[in-house]
Amino acid sequence: MTVSASAASSTNQKSDFNYVNDRFADIEVLRYKVPGFEQLSLQQKKLIYYLTEAAITGRDILWDQNGKYNLAIRSLLENVYTNYSGSKKDKDYKGLELYLKQIWFGNGIHHHYSMDKFKPEFSEKFLRNQIAKLPADKKPADTDILLKVIFDPQFMAKRVNQAEGEDLILTSANNLYDGVTQAEVEAYYNALKDTTDLTPVSYGLNTRVTKINGKVTEQPYMVGGLYSPAITRIVELLGKARECAENPAQAATIDKLIEFYRTGSLKAFDEYSIMWVDDTNSQVDFINGFIESYGDPLGMTGSWESIVNFKNIPASHRTEVISDNAQWFESNSPVDPRFRKDKVKGVTAKVITAAILAGDSYPSTPIGINLPNANWIRAAHGSKSVTIENITEAYDEASHGNGFNEEFVPDASMREMMDKYLFVTDNLHTDLHECLGHASGRILPGVDPDALKAHGSTLEEARADLFALYYLADPKLLELGLLDNADAYKPQYYKYILNGLMTQLMRIEPGKDVEEAHMRNRKLISEWVLEKGKKDNVMELYTKDGKTYLRINDYPAVRRLFGELLGEIQRIKSEGDYEAGRDLVEKYAVKVDPKLHNEVLERYSHLNIAPYKGFVNPVYTPVYDQNGNITDVTISYTEDYIPQMLRYSRDYSPLTK
Ligand code: ZN
Repeated sequence: MTVSASAASSTNQKSDFNYVNDRFADIEVLRYKVPGFEQLSLQQKKLIYYLTEAAITGRDILWDQNGKYNLAIRSLLENVYTNYSGSKKDKDYKGLELYLKQIWFGNGIHHHYSMDKFKPEFSEKFLRNQIAKLPADKKPADTDILLKVIFDPQFMAKRVNQAEGEDLILTSANNLYDGVTQAEVEAYYNALKDTTDLTPVSYGLNTRVTKINGKVTEQPYMVGGLYSPAITRIVELLGKARECAENPAQAATIDKLIEFYRTGSLKAFDEYSIMWVDDTNSQVDFINGFIESYGDPLGMTGSWESIVNFKNIPASHRTEVISDNAQWFESNSPVDPRFRKDKVKGVTAKVITAAILAGDSYPSTPIGINLPNANWIRAAHGSKSVTIENITEAYDEASHGNGFNEEFVPDASMREMMDKYLFVTDNLHTDLHECLGHASGRILPGVDPDALKAHGSTLEEARADLFALYYLADPKLLELGLLDNADAYKPQYYKYILNGLMTQLMRIEPGKDVEEAHMRNRKLISEWVLEKGKKDNVMELYTKDGKTYLRINDYPAVRRLFGELLGEIQRIKSEGDYEAGRDLVEKYAVKVDPKLHNEVLERYSHLNIAPYKGFVNPVYTPVYDQNGNITDVTISYTEDYIPQMLRYSRDYSPLTK
């Protein structure tokens, strides 16, 4: 599970590092620093180097998972772009460059967040002319279908469709299923699932489902299977990383991951996940594999991703304090005691520094991660939870002075509180969400963990957010020394609800619904609390000079309502009450008030703040002695967005050659 950054806010510190690298469409591309890398040992630097190489090598896997024409389109357009000899001021050329920047960011032809297909701002005629100028070996074999995919807005319009009542597989353009209906896939997995199995594998996590000779069949992603050239290279690089492991447990964990990639065995993946979650002694850590299932409308197949990181030891003190007190938080949570865990197991938490972002975590990236996802492993072995603080810091630094708070927060004293406490409480919110929220609560015996179906992700994120929000206002945080002011939670509450009700709407196109799980969750929580608090005037939206603002009158009451909703959503999850979950999502999380939506878009347009942000990676370069041994690994922050994308396509594309 992941936490994504919410809409922009601003604080007031300044910095020399150039955080902003590129700006186009609805995107801002940032850089992040990797503080502490230089101080790592040579062995750790080598380990990180090979792991980052393995991370970048998986890029094409995700591109192909996201859509079966993505790699062919990327190759074609990159060839046209680099072969182009006309004026760079040409409108079509500029449109092509913009489109390339967008598909690089989306890892395919669909927007990473809205899932809608990008609209090209260059003509089909221009592209045909440019293709004619390409050398023969760079011309695609099937130009017509690629042009149809690019230019026909109805064709493969949405990567992941979540609309209730439609065939979610047939109407989703991703490449996780081919030639099968939702009913066929559900029947296939229902036949496979043994409901008495207490340690079920994550069915479908590493496969594409298709039909062979009329029979529904899974094709595994593995050495010798789908994506073999990329996975084989990843395995080679993991082998080199293994030679630099910090300790035998880490080496054994890498071996197990290699076994998973070689065999495609989901049992091996579970064994790997357990070894990975148990390894809390290594400073360097990474994920590499088919992890999150947000890209699958049925929530089964994992999108390929990798993040390589190392522990930020001083900052991890904060999450260790939270983890050490996990049982207190669980036992005092405002949910029915029947749904609490008697014993919260092994919630390990740390603050990490990301060294590379790849696959589904690049360029758009989460700020927190809690893995593994398998419920039984989490229950039996706990989970590892991380906050990626060099990423949250980059977000925070890049948003300075962008005018957001001045526009949406009318109260100057609240703005001051935001400047003072949002960075701290944002990080705490992420810690509580990841370390405690996702790990809390239990499902009643016999309840299917997938009972909430398409609404599962939204309700799970809401549960984790509510847990965090509820406890942010708890005096326990002062007692533990995590906050120094009993009112520090107020700016976090204000920002959260403002975002859920209004400001996150800047990410949605006019007329569209809210689709993404984290956004739905924030809207669900904020709208529900607004409605339930109406009779006691807990908070209100009011207008002044034609602009809508939020006023919170009673913060303790907001906290009580957060607790109440947490209790209800935990009940829904524990009992597998699909209807109640669906009703909550449909009533509060999806539909947008068009008038308020337009107003938010209008006000945002004057600020020129990008609704979405992502990152370019630093570049790691090994230094060799005359015998070919690595004596150091240097890091640089100078590569720009376009050169990085072209270099990755040139040097890390085992599936397009
Ligand atoms: Zn989450």
